Amino acid sequence: MTEHTVWIKNPLAIYAENAENGIVIKGNTIIELVGDKSRPSVAIDQIYDASNSVVLPGLINTHHHCYQTLTRAYPDALNKELFPWLKSLYKVWMHITPDMHEQATRLAFCELLLSGCTTTSDHHYLFPKQLKNAIDIQVAVANQLGIRTVLTRGSMSLGQKDGGLPPQSVVQTEKEIIDDSIRLIKTYHQNQKGAMVQIALAPCSPFSVSAELMKESASIAHRYKVRLHTHLAETIDEEKFCLKTFGKRTVDYLESVGWLSDKTWLAHGIHFNAEEIQKLGHNKVGICHCPSSNMMLASGICQTLDLQKAGCFVGLGVDGSASNDSSNMITELRQAMYLQRLHYGSSKITAEYAINLATKGSAQLLGRDDIGEIAVGKQADLALFKLDELRFSGAHDPISALLLCGAHKADRVMVAGRWLVKDAKLVDIDQKELMHRHNRQAKKLFALANS
Ligand code: ZN
Repeated sequence: MTEHTVWIKNPLAIYAENAENGIVIKGNTIIELVGDKSRPSVAIDQIYDASNSVVLPGLINTHHHCYQTLTRAYPDALNKELFPWLKSLYKVWMHITPDMHEQATRLAFCELLLSGCTTTSDHHYLFPKQLKNAIDIQVAVANQLGIRTVLTRGSMSLGQKDGGLPPQSVVQTEKEIIDDSIRLIKTYHQNQKGAMVQIALAPCSPFSVSAELMKESASIAHRYKVRLHTHLAETIDEEKFCLKTFGKRTVDYLESVGWLSDKTWLAHGIHFNAEEIQKLGHNKVGICHCPSSNMMLASGICQTLDLQKAGCFVGLGVDGSASNDSSNMITELRQAMYLQRLHYGSSKITAEYAINLATKGSAQLLGRDDIGEIAVGKQADLALFKLDELRFSGAHDPISALLLCGAHKADRVMVAGRWLVKDAKLVDIDQKELMHRHNRQAKKLFALANS
């Protein structure tokens, strides 16, 4: 089949060098940047007039828990910090069925796409007995929608009876976890350029898995060349837990289980001292900043600039919908910019800084050099925004305006050369029906949990 060429022509602004007159896409790849007053050098099959659009590389979300869209603004979990918040929700989440998980994943992926996200990770660590095939369900939904994913096979093995935080009914044996991790890698993980589905291994956190499982996960990840992900240093409670249980602070614990490597990315990464930041940087560990979640649970502020200076890659994540209560990437960039300004001041943290976190930075966390940038040879993953709402009226610099004026929806989104969002709507998806089905499952879950 011959691949069509598309010229995204004459953008209002574009987040790329030497592409003032747009870019040319062939199949799933960007093949040419068109400079000022230039025209494409190849024959063009289709032109998209981008003169009203700000064009960004597709945004990349590196931490989420799709299933949590079912428990947004959940009464029993409101106004709590992480551990009590988790304890309130574990007893609800243990009732999630495959249908609920499917609808939750679909809704979260759709919500992300509409906000300009083209690649998302999900950290699913909840496998009660009725939900053994949680990742298989997510792969099917991702393939159907066309969003690029890095799905992490999460796990919890340390239940309350062994000193962990989660109830016994949501933990699995280590053998079950390891066997399923290997099965998922062998079945779904793609490692070619342009991969649409990848698998990573993601024990949930120090307070829900054993040191043995952390070590075994690292060894499998090394053997099958997949990445490692977990929550770390999110709260002081977690630090206390690590000191009490393992006799070590979080980073020392991570080192002791063989996780300090450039194949690891950590969600949150807040409570590190100067020495730990140097150690993480030296080992090129990735950190996913989750500003909304960190503000909502009052966890603290990730030291993004210090981590980057030390050598870490830093990306961005919306985190679970129950601790952010939305899955919106473009608004998360705004949150990141403002939260980081509180810590580092206005001149060091620009709109471009936040865009870089969510594009190049996030791509580095996922070990991807084919996404996160508008450049020749990269995947055609794009987010286009129109400045056509009252909030943008009077704005001068279009790229800064996206964050300063509070852009909340993309006008068009392309993944691997395919338009998945047009006119701020999902192509071929009935959004009302999607919400109706999702809401119905959320109500069912509430009823099951409270029966
Ligand atoms: Zn999380």
